[in-house]
Amino acid sequence: MSLEVDNLLLESLKEVMDLTPNALGFFDRDYRLLYCNDIMASVLGKPKEQAIGQLQKDLLREAYNHSIGIKIDADNFDTWFDEVEKTQRSVEYNQFETDTNEGQYYNVTRMTLSNGMNVIVGANITELKKIQLTLTQAITDIEQLANTDELTGIYNRRYFIELSEKEIGRAKRYAHPLSLIVIDIDFFKAVNDSYGHHVGDTVLSYFCKQCNEQLRDSDTLCRVGGEEFAILLPHTQVNHAGDIAERIRLCIKACEIPYDDSGSTLSITLSLGVTQYKEGDINISDLLIRGDKALYQAKDSGRDQYVVQL
Ligand code: GH3
Ligand code: MG
Ligand code: MG
Repeated sequence: MSLEVDNLLLESLKEVMDLTPNALGFFDRDYRLLYCNDIMASVLGKPKEQAIGQLQKDLLREAYNHSIGIKIDADNFDTWFDEVEKTQRSVEYNQFETDTNEGQYYNVTRMTLSNGMNVIVGANITELKKIQLTLTQAITDIEQLANTDELTGIYNRRYFIELSEKEIGRAKRYAHPLSLIVIDIDFFKAVNDSYGHHVGDTVLSYFCKQCNEQLRDSDTLCRVGGEEFAILLPHTQVNHAGDIAERIRLCIKACEIPYDDSGSTLSITLSLGVTQYKEGDINISDLLIRGDKALYQAKDSGRDQYVVQL
């Protein structure tokens, strides 16, 4: 190629570098910045004129110290940079995602050319990343919606089944105890009939709030039916679950549940069935059958009590 063509190409290349929407930087074999465009300069957190001529390590250290440009999520800069250098020395080409303190995301490609020069190209993926983050959030929201009971805000039956299967798996694998309490509000139909359905709704929500306050973080209260609830208690022996059932029963019985603006209150009682996972149980149905049996026994024996079924 003639010198004229060479020069023309070089000129064009420089113009392309300045016009491209990507970050571009050329470093020598010691990683001193030879040339970069404005976008790369912004990733490095300083004007192009100041960045050119500096070592990559110094540029990154400044970005780290001042939280400008590339976000470096590290407790110790030198330890972090040692890792970067190790990669840069060991492979001719690597790719990673990074973001900046100014909210831009880049898909970065670093390559060592045959002449020893190092080129870093960062494709701006901010819009794509934003869509990805929105989608991830939407999936989380949908999952939560699918697992939540609309009226009371606690977990629903669907989540209960899902969680139970996981916990039964754990109980089997690690030989941990796992208990179940099933709860049914006594004469709940009478609450609806006497005070109206909306008061029934208020009572259900009130019950959930009070009941949750009696539980540890590891115990999960779910609404499995209209006025039926289940609590899964990992790492809990059945006699301890019985104590918890009794605590819930007494707590709810003592509640004066406000149901209108005039300060009127009503009370409810609970019947509870308690059981635990035992060898041979295949899935949560096995525990639910025993829990329900205990619950019916509690109902038959006059309600307002808990019964344990092993
Ligand atoms: P028992 O002591 O035998 O459990 O009697 P009960 O009246 O509680 O039982 P029953 O099964 O006869 O009635 C349950 C009632 O719960 C009937 C149903 O209308 C009511 N219910 C179910 N879901 C809701 C709800 O979301 N809101 C309200 N307000 N009531 C509900
Ligand atoms: Mg019922
Ligand atoms: Mg009931």
